[in-house]
Amino acid sequence: MADTLIVGGGTAGCVLAERLSADPAHTVRLLEAGRLWASRDAMPAELLDAASLPIGPEASWLWRYEVVLADDPPVQATIVRGRVIGGSGAINGGYFVRATVADFDAWSRVLGGSDAWSFDSVLPLYCRVERDLDFGAQPWHGDRGPIPVLRSSDPAPVSAMFTEACLASGFAEVPDLNAPDSGEGVGVVPCNCDQGRRIGPSIGYLLPALGRPNLTVAGETSVTRVRFEGTRAVGVDYVRDGESGTEWADRIVLCAGAIESAALLLRSGIGDPAQLRSLGIPVVHAAPVGSWLSDHPEVGISYLLRLAEPPTVPLETVLEVDDVEIRPYAVSFTPGVHRLGVTLMRPQSSGTLRLRSADPDAAPFIDYRYLTAEPDRARLRDAVATAGGLLRRMNARPVDPIPRPADLDAWLRANLATSQHLSGTCRMGRENDAAAVVDEQCRVHGVTGLSVVDLSVVPVPLGRGPQATTMMIAEKAAAQLRS
Ligand SMILES: Cc1cc2nc3c(=O)[nH]c(=O)nc-3n(C[C@H](O)[C@H](O)[C@H](O)COP(=O)(O)OP(=O)(O)OC[C@H]3O[C@@H](n4cnc5c(N)ncnc54)[C@H](O)[C@@H]3O)c2cc1C
Repeated sequence: MADTLIVGGGTAGCVLAERLSADPAHTVRLLEAGRLWASRDAMPAELLDAASLPIGPEASWLWRYEVVLADDPPVQATIVRGRVIGGSGAINGGYFVRATVADFDAWSRVLGGSDAWSFDSVLPLYCRVERDLDFGAQPWHGDRGPIPVLRSSDPAPVSAMFTEACLASGFAEVPDLNAPDSGEGVGVVPCNCDQGRRIGPSIGYLLPALGRPNLTVAGETSVTRVRFEGTRAVGVDYVRDGESGTEWADRIVLCAGAIESAALLLRSGIGDPAQLRSLGIPVVHAAPVGSWLSDHPEVGISYLLRLAEPPTVPLETVLEVDDVEIRPYAVSFTPGVHRLGVTLMRPQSSGTLRLRSADPDAAPFIDYRYLTAEPDRARLRDAVATAGGLLRRMNARPVDPIPRPADLDAWLRANLATSQHLSGTCRMGRENDAAAVVDEQCRVHGVTGLSVVDLSVVPVPLGRGPQATTMMIAEKAAAQLRS
């Protein structure tokens, strides 16, 4: 009987736990740092409401990190992740769009042309995740997966005006952003919600499986490090209710997300040897953990427009041009002030994640290094000009006027934010790839019995938001671990 210990019951962890434990020949234990509820009805209403992001200052289900978005002088920000069953998938915007054919071509190039992560090989896994309520009958969609996917049929006035402005500017209309050949243009966002409820990975996958005798799930249990015998991972140390403990396992899978999976590897001795030694951490294996952090920089344009704001998902429609996504948020973050997000989806600049200390309670240092590469700044300048044109067509007035192109760099920094789509901290690649931490089956190079299955393994920036892809990665890893 195979025995798997999963660390982190977030987006990937919920999918993996359900899929692995569907086979009675596997015992699965899942340790999650945040709270666990046994049923959807027991969950707080804020976590179910698809029309709001439950990430306010009072929210008790978050990890919060102080980060540096750009340097010279530093642009600082606070980012969050879900610390709750379902992880970031329990608190996110519900945008459920697949990565593109071009993304998987780039991913396959990193793997030396292997087709393990080609678009054709992952398409059936995307289909397995979803129950597409609009296009389920199409051959590139699923109609029976655990996650319902739906597009708004009655868009809010701001979304409708934005679409009109895009079409009037000559952009194409994209009927299905999840079609393999979706192309560029404006389209309605597929969302993982149903009847106004966010259907994330815990509701869709994990909770229905909780009664299985071969699945054990513990909430409020924070794993502090992985234990090794030589280079074999044999267990994890954890803290629960202030008490320390150890769980032993045949196989350990980290699903703690792009920040905490990397931090766990580093605290356990897998990372840059000089950095680890400087913190007093014994080195198990040298690896570039945290060296290639990627995310989607977003420049926010606040604008004024008097419109009704019916309750809806935060983002109903997007415009995709080249590798830029323009997002007319349908909910106001400040009353009466709307926001247009201008987002670079395949930035060249990448950042780093490092430990400050070996203490598991010390948050790692995250330096995004956004806007370091001139091509990133150039593409954002062009994209902001495009967004400004769309706002003029909508008769909307930016609160902070968009300056002339020559003065735009300072304005970009002043309005810089992030999409909170961190990836790449434990990159996938071949054994001889100096940037690689895991192999194409998500197994950590240089050790045995340890894998990472979450967004940290993605080796290229993705042209779309990541949650659908995170679930797909976990579906693929589950199939590999079951075989
Ligand atoms: C506010 C917000 C909005 C977003 N909106 C969207 C969106 O609309 N569309 C989209 O595509 N993407 C969105 N994203 C990104 C997307 O949700 C994440 O990229 C994705 O969910 C990551 O999945 P994951 O499995 O890698 O990590 P997570 O889902 O974050 O899961 C990690 C889990 O591990 C647990 N954990 C961490 N450390 C430990 C430990 N030491 N011991 C035990 N457990 C631990 C955490 O508590 C968490 O449950 C958003 C993200 C945020 C933060």
